[in-house]
Amino acid sequence: MHDSSALHVVHEPETGPDLDAAEAAAARFLTALGIPIDSEGLRNTPRRMASAYAELFAPRPFDLTTFPNDEGYDELVLARSIPVRSVCEHHLLPFVGVAHVGYLPGDRILGLSKLARVVEYFACRPQVQERLTKQIADWLREQLNPKGVGVVIEAEHTCMTLRGVQATGSNTVTSTLHGRLRGDARSRQEFFALTGIHG
Ligand SMILES: [Zn+2]
Repeated sequence: MHDSSALHVVHEPETGPDLDAAEAAAARFLTALGIPIDSEGLRNTPRRMASAYAELFAPRPFDLTTFPNDEGYDELVLARSIPVRSVCEHHLLPFVGVAHVGYLPGDRILGLSKLARVVEYFACRPQVQERLTKQIADWLREQLNPKGVGVVIEAEHTCMTLRGVQATGSNTVTSTLHGRLRGDARSRQEFFALTGIHG
């Protein structure tokens, strides 16, 4: 149970990124790889690399307000195909895909558009897909006290598809289920049927 009706979630790191240091390191990194950075096209690449990664690791601040479920709505709430953009922590290469996020309301509900912001919040950091899936599900369980939670993420990892086995187009699917969506076969089947995943 939660006392306050409004929850304020803001990403405020103690220190912002040091773009100058990141730029210098990126220049050394490229040089070490044998990539000359004195051409016109590459001259500003270290700065752009620093800015791009800084942006990937900075979720937009947002207010997240939950509401009491006064109407007693108890059917599955599902947001399908929420875009996921994250960076794998092993190679620092992007993984991109979609999330299907659902819950069976209990005490509190959340604005539908906010489900996408929760996904973004946990995606904007070095990640592994399994942990990202679980963090979203655990967060919803803790904040909404729902009867059930289901999160499925389907993503293509460029560290797999651009190198190594070159499995272009192959997707990795992860899921985390809590409560009734985990324990009740019919609820679970309904959830997976609505996401288009065959659980
Ligand atoms: Zn990777």
